[in-house]
Order: sequence, then structure tokens, then C-alpha cells
Amino acid sequence: MTERVAGGGATDTPLMQQYREIKARFPQTILFFRMGDFYEMFYEDALVAWADGEAPGPIVQLGRARHDPMDARPARDLLPPLDRYVRLAVGDELRLVGSVEASRGCAHRCRHCPVPVVYNGRVRLANGDETLSDITQLVEHGARHLTFGDPDFLNAPQHSMRIVRAVHERYPDLTFDCTTKVEHVLRYHELLPELARSGCLFVVSAFESLNDAILERLDKGHAAADSARAVHLLRDHGIDVRPSFLPFTPWTTRDDLATLVEFVADHDLVGSVDPVQYTIRLLLPAGSLLLEHPDLAPHLGGWDDERLTFTWTPAHPDMDDLQRELARLVEESVGRGDPISTTYARVRSAIGVEPVDVSSAPIDRPRLTESWFCCAEPTDVQMRAVTT
Ligand code: SF4
Repeated sequence: MTERVAGGGATDTPLMQQYREIKARFPQTILFFRMGDFYEMFYEDALVAWADGEAPGPIVQLGRARHDPMDARPARDLLPPLDRYVRLAVGDELRLVGSVEASRGCAHRCRHCPVPVVYNGRVRLANGDETLSDITQLVEHGARHLTFGDPDFLNAPQHSMRIVRAVHERYPDLTFDCTTKVEHVLRYHELLPELARSGCLFVVSAFESLNDAILERLDKGHAAADSARAVHLLRDHGIDVRPSFLPFTPWTTRDDLATLVEFVADHDLVGSVDPVQYTIRLLLPAGSLLLEHPDLAPHLGGWDDERLTFTWTPAHPDMDDLQRELARLVEESVGRGDPISTTYARVRSAIGVEPVDVSSAPIDRPRLTESWFCCAEPTDVQMRAVTT
């Protein structure tokens, strides 16, 4: 196959043109192409099949691999340069960031998460040597910080720590961030000193809610009090935390939102929470594990073909109005370049919680210059970007 696709400059063979035409007409259908004596799948079809352990062959054609079949590293030289991507902001400095993975999939099956829909509790470990070799490519392209894109970096802690050690030995000034769940921060707390020494600046962790009944429905594996413990543990070891939240679920009340913003202020997190996190509304993709939960049944609506999610209505009807108000407010505030404490204060006021003085909230905590979140319905800004 002579296909060569990565970022710009792609050239399609007639077969791939045909694949794309048929896929555009039948986006929900897995396509098998007869190639001589066997059938082949491409791109996301192949990835889904591979994650399900059903791929007919050992190679998943993601269109990113080099032509050398022995070299599975991403073809970084075919991708846009790193200065076209998100940066690390730390103090006044902006650093080029390389994105890399030590694993794919996740060992957990949180009900609201799109990852189990594909991986169903399975983790695929990347080859450590290839990951290291890919990191070398990224450093040669100017990366000074790595963001590990694993859904959960501590699903396979020994594997991840081997990579962290090898990277730190080779590039002692390179910093990194990773994502891991509250449960893992607590369970693997003995790894935190080494993570910090090896350059881990911050951890993204999905707190989701401060309501234990909602956390239970999501099968998150932690309670609200655990999130507070995770904040303290990480900070005690010199690692910052950037919580993500899922504030708008079918069961959310205004009191839940009040608890959330108070938790943020009480734990000195105003400068650590991307404001979009106050606006996230539950996504229900096809196959979502939450669809089987009896508590969802009274709220579940039909399939939305444009947003690729099942619709749902909140138990408390004014919550949708509040979600829209917060989304608009955050979009305007961030668009104007308001300090993060101003945006937080406006969110707090819209929820109806007494103001507190957050003017001294730090603005220089390490962060990526683009907000990261998943498990969320697309925002209006994102929908406009793909529909106009
Ligand atoms: S929310 Fe995180 S821990 Fe839970 S299934 Fe998704 S990726 Fe795994």
C-alpha cells in the first residue's frame, strides 16, 4: 500500500479515496476492504477493532506510521511543527510541548466516560523503547515539556515509572504532566516523590463532582473527601493538580454547584481550574455505560445526530438554563482575557453563592494553554467550529 497520510500534504490512493467516500456516507458502519486474500480495515474502524481484540491482522493502519514497518513511532516529521500546538505556560514562560502516550485505553469503566465504550476496561501498553525513541524525536523538534496523553497514566504504574525514569535520565530538564484518577493518586502515593523529582509539574485528575451519590452513579471509584486528600497529597510532594469536573449531570442541583465552587475556593484551586470546567454537561455517546443505569431512565431522551450524543433532561429544569448561562459567561470572560479569579467570581455569583475575596488567587500555576476535557457535550464554540 502506498498510502501516506499525516497532517497536511496527504496523498490518497484511489482505494483510500473510495474508502473516504463510502465512510462519509455511512459514518457509523465499520468498512471491510477486500485486499487479495484477506480483508482490511482502516483508521478509526481498525482502531475500534484492534481495541476490541478483533482486528484481522497485527497492524492497525492509523495513517501515521512511517513506511518502514519496523518503525512504529509517529512520523513527527510529517506533522505540523510543535509551535502550532498547545504550549506549557509556567510563570511568564511558554514552552513547546510534545504529546506522547505510554498506554492506550483504561482499566476502569467509569460509566460516564467514552473510553470504556471503545476499550471496555482494557489497557494497551506502548512499547517503552519506541515511546522513548518518540520522545527523542520530540526533543529534537524542540519540546521542553511532555504531556502524557494516556487516559490514566497510572493504570500500569510500573510501566509508566520505567518510562519516567528513562526519560529523566536522558533529559533531566524535561518536565511533564499526566492524567490520573483520584483513586490512583491515593493508591500510588508512594510514587509521587519520584514523579516530582523526575519533572512532573502537574497532574490532571477528574474530580467530576462533590456529591457522593452522583460519584456513585458514575462509578468513579472515589468519594468527595478523597478529592480533597488528593489535592493535599499532590501538593505536599510539590506537584500541582488541575481538577476536571462534570458539574452538569441529570441529577445535579444548584446546591451541588455551590458545593463545587466553594470546594475550589477552600482548597486554593481558583488558579488551577480551567473555567470551562464549571460548564461541562454530561455526554452520552452510543454505547455509554450510563445508558444501562436505572437512575438515568427518567431523564433519557433520543439520539442527537448532530451532536452524536443521546439527549437527556435534568431533574431540576432550571439547571439547563444555568448551564447555558455559565457557558456564555465563561466564553465571554475568557474571550475578553479576564483574570481567572474574575471569571471564577462571576461563575460563583451566577450560581448564587456569596462572594469571597479571590483576588490573590495565583495566576502562574503550570498549565497547558488550551483547556483539556472529555466526557462533555461539545460546547457551542466547538459546534460552530465544525458546522460553519
Ligand atoms: S474516567 Fe478516567 S479512569 Fe474512568 S474510565 Fe475514563 S479514563 Fe478510565
